[in-house]
Amino acid sequence: MLAGLGRWLRTAGYDTVIIEDSLDDQQVLKRALNENRTLLTRDRHFLEMQTPERNEEVVFLKGNTLEECIHELNQKLMLNWLYAPFSRCLLCNSLLVRPDEQTILEQVPEDIHSCSNSYWYCQQCKKVYWEGSHTERMLKQLQQWQS
Ligand SMILES: [Zn+2]
Repeated sequence: MLAGLGRWLRTAGYDTVIIEDSLDDQQVLKRALNENRTLLTRDRHFLEMQTPERNEEVVFLKGNTLEECIHELNQKLMLNWLYAPFSRCLLCNSLLVRPDEQTILEQVPEDIHSCSNSYWYCQQCKKVYWEGSHTERMLKQLQQWQS
């Protein structure tokens, strides 16, 4: 339900697992507890499943839009939207590394290669990310949420 929000948390650099719908609620909660994660959800079931010591680990979001959820999240958690922008893969959550020159030549279109000099690489997805107008827009968005 909150996959879009999850990708933005990854954009900000937070270690974020986005749960597939196939996992049942108990498994989701168990995984969050085992991995010491904060569970963000729009599903009220999780509130009923909570025991007192779990209170802080489940954050229920009522918002229907991304902006509403961000606003709620900012009120409930001390998030830093400029924590570590573009340090994680948006697809798989892995930490990004600097790609070698060969990988850049193979994967980045020439017109981009000539005007960008910042690249990040996901070793899991074998995907190169690069700095450009899209990252500028995303950074502006993060700055806005941070302020
Ligand atoms: Zn990846």
